[in-house]
Amino acid sequence: MRILVVGAGQMGAGIAQVAAQAGDEVLLHDVEQRFIDRGFRTIEKNLDRAVEKGRMSEEQRGKVLAHVDARPRWDDFDVDVAIEAATENLEIKLDLFRRMDENTPPTSVLASNTSSISITRLGAVTSRAERVIGMHFFNPVPVMRLVELIRGLATSQQTFETARELAVRYGKTPVAANDFPGFISNRILCPMLNEAVYALYEGVGTVDAIDAVMKLGMNHPMGPLELADFVGLDTLLAIMDVLYEGYSDSKYRACPLLRKYVAAGWLGRKSGRGFYDWSGGTIKAAAPPDGATQTVAAAAR
Ligand code: NAD
Repeated sequence: MRILVVGAGQMGAGIAQVAAQAGDEVLLHDVEQRFIDRGFRTIEKNLDRAVEKGRMSEEQRGKVLAHVDARPRWDDFDVDVAIEAATENLEIKLDLFRRMDENTPPTSVLASNTSSISITRLGAVTSRAERVIGMHFFNPVPVMRLVELIRGLATSQQTFETARELAVRYGKTPVAANDFPGFISNRILCPMLNEAVYALYEGVGTVDAIDAVMKLGMNHPMGPLELADFVGLDTLLAIMDVLYEGYSDSKYRACPLLRKYVAAGWLGRKSGRGFYDWSGGTIKAAAPPDGATQTVAAAAR
């Protein structure tokens, strides 16, 4: 199969990797060549690690890389499936769905890896809403088994089957969800991560304490603040805003401290700083911000 992946960030690079590993021809697009190069480096690093651990031969590594091609410019893409994994922003995604509709054969399936945005709405700007579906992979894509499959109002059963078969061929377990903000996964997960930021903001606990409670007490493999850094604080904020607007319910209000971190460009692992310090490539406790009033509790002191 030929697959177009739009957006070469954390998720796009991972999707390109699993597709290439399954033997598909992958075209990788992003707004600039340097972002595609960064995506390639991520794939290379992942494959190097697999070779080191003896899970893949050098020859297989070479074959996987040869299956991924950079496509910095829009063109007529002769693909079977296009998977959009660009920034979590409605306007960007609407524009990309119009472009994917114009630049791929009318028979190809158009999928979005969106975490929260309406698939029905993305389908409505194309001439083939019946061929539009949500394929929500999880981070890191090569490791996580779940793919949430989201039908828009007009999505056909045939499109659902195509996406289901693709997910299975990529070694994933598909689970169906209906098209409501955040679907199943992020409707449940993101309010919990946001609540952890509120707990920090209100001084209930330190970063370490909040994450330790959830790891040791709830048996979560990662604390919520570490997971928020891992997801990307900009992505978490964008999802909370979609939930807040989509359900018109204040219980989904994003924590002001989360908004402040994003405003500072502290986006978590991908920017080197979030609730933790990731600048060395691994997680470290971050020095508390110098700004005196980071939390409600600090402001009161
Ligand atoms: P990211 O910030 O790592 O990557 C986004 C990429 O999209 C960047 O490389 C950016 O240059 C590119 N982009 C932006 N506008 C574009 C455009 N017009 N055309 C082409 N490329 C464009 O973000 P990410 O974590 O990879 O998330 C991407 C998508 O996947 C989002 O919709 C997000 O909600 C979803 N998602 C993220 C996670 C996660 O844990 N991070 C999990 C599941 C789904």
